[in-house]
Amino acid sequence: MYDCFTYTVRATMEGFGFCEPGTVGEFFAKGHATHGGDVVVNPHGGLLSEGYIHRLNHHYEAALQLRSQAENRQVTDARLAVVRCTRCRTWQHPPTETCRHCAGPVAFEPVSGRGTIYSFIVVRQATVPGHQVPYAVALVELAEQADIRITGVVRVPLDEIRVGLPVKADVVTVGDSGQSVVEFITA
Ligand SMILES: [Zn+2]
Repeated sequence: MYDCFTYTVRATMEGFGFCEPGTVGEFFAKGHATHGGDVVVNPHGGLLSEGYIHRLNHHYEAALQLRSQAENRQVTDARLAVVRCTRCRTWQHPPTETCRHCAGPVAFEPVSGRGTIYSFIVVRQATVPGHQVPYAVALVELAEQADIRITGVVRVPLDEIRVGLPVKADVVTVGDSGQSVVEFITA
């Protein structure tokens, strides 16, 4: 969770429905937001512990958690999740703190990681370590809802990639970089 200021975490926790409005202080004080609690927030220590690199460390930590490689910070049962309205049940991505459709409250819910390629490009100038050019980066439409799309490298031979191809998310370490990211493989 992005934590450029202490207040940001407090507002985001309540906004995404992890606790009731006005109760986040008590939520943290009672240990609900750390290991053994209901919602483990920033087990890597967040920006204060790791330095300000604009959320990249949060993505890295999330990938480590999904791969069960976070060692003594590992959260039990970490899963890929997307924000969903608790009233009209519409999925929302990028996440918002209020439903775009009915203005209702939202919460994170696990997703399957399965979907189909909505669009893709072929990268011919390497931008990610550990990948041999050319490789493809796709916009993947998740199976949960037609307009929920996330991006990632697709580890499928270029001559097999097409719009509509079924794929599934896979969290991988890129080359010898030590970086973990979500990529897609054939479903
Ligand atoms: Zn809604």
